[in-house]
Amino acid sequence: MKLSTIFVQALLVPLALAAAAPKLEKKVSYDGYKVFRISTHHDGAIIKEKLAPFAAVPFNLNTEEHLDVAIPPQDLAAFKALNLETEVLHENLGADIAEEGKFAAYDGPSAQAVPSLNWFNSYHSYADHVTFFSDLQGAFPQNSELITAGTSVQGRSIFGIHLWGSGGKGSKPAVYFHGTVHAREWITAKVVEYIAYNLLVQYSTNATVKTILDKYDFYILPFVNPDGFVYTQTNDRLWRKNRQTRSGSSCVGTDINRNWPYKWELTNGASTNPCAETYKGVAAGDTPENKGLVAFTKSLAAGKGIKLYIDWHSFGQYILLPYGYDCSARAANHARQTTLASGVASRIAQSYGTRFTYGPSCSTLYATTGSSVDYLTDVSKAELAWTIELRPTGSSSSGFILPAAQILPSAIEQWEGMTYLLTTM
Ligand SMILES: [Zn+2]
Repeated sequence: MKLSTIFVQALLVPLALAAAAPKLEKKVSYDGYKVFRISTHHDGAIIKEKLAPFAAVPFNLNTEEHLDVAIPPQDLAAFKALNLETEVLHENLGADIAEEGKFAAYDGPSAQAVPSLNWFNSYHSYADHVTFFSDLQGAFPQNSELITAGTSVQGRSIFGIHLWGSGGKGSKPAVYFHGTVHAREWITAKVVEYIAYNLLVQYSTNATVKTILDKYDFYILPFVNPDGFVYTQTNDRLWRKNRQTRSGSSCVGTDINRNWPYKWELTNGASTNPCAETYKGVAAGDTPENKGLVAFTKSLAAGKGIKLYIDWHSFGQYILLPYGYDCSARAANHARQTTLASGVASRIAQSYGTRFTYGPSCSTLYATTGSSVDYLTDVSKAELAWTIELRPTGSSSSGFILPAAQILPSAIEQWEGMTYLLTTM
């Protein structure tokens, strides 16, 4: 924490929070909730109708093939009586959250002032993530600096790390990563941290890594929704949106990945209901997070340009190409993007056999409006702009609650996929 103590302090004291008296909210308990994947046979509406009487918590947005849903203990008997075709994703969601919440203490940098790989054996608090980045940057001051891309609703910095190679700071096209836009997708920060870690730690010893970092400037933002992430650790593990309140509604939160000012006005790819998980906001780009991210993205596009953008999400194991807003629209270089995505999927599978499906976002998964990938493609002119949905698929148990033992394998297989992409694109 040596060099950047002031930076860390600034991140840890959200100004808006410090000013307002904190409202005491009870932490949501999922003890005894059982999570099911229900086959919908292309008729999700009928299943949803049957679930209407229950206090069920939906996990997925695309219900074409299946509906993933957490059923509270008091409804389990009635749910079972419905005799639906199901598999179990979590036997006891609360128990799995408790297991995942056993954070290892961050052991700080080693004698060489580089944080240890133990970091990837457990999930961590937001404060520890901030310290990890400060320590990592502090160990490689010649090739990195800490950056910010604006401020969240509650006053947290949307911090990140900028990495560069022999050409010097800001001399090469940008590779640009966003993690944790959806608060509950904890694995995403770990994966981008592992990529940043390897690029710095292996730069002087690995010829491939040196080639990559000498060719591109990396801008890695691990938490574009910091308030939401903190909220998943203090109040509700399944929180998705930011923590913005809106006049006229008691519901909190806007989906940052439905608020980008491009194709925001279209219907069917987001919700206008402030209580919905995909609430798009009142106007295009009207969240504090999107304002900061748009300005930062514009600065990259106006600089050396954006070669590659990836918005990291979980879960489902997908590599999603443009576009979200229209299922028949294709990027001008769609064929090339598809070839590259196919190569990345093959390389990912080499480590542990993990299968990733790839294709255009809308036709492969579901329609999205105001998404980052569409904005980066058409407004920022990024050559490649993808969403990657990390482990698991959901069919082999678990969902957003990915066991800590899978952090490192998830990171390793993505590092392999990125190594392929960054040397091929
Ligand atoms: Zn997501």
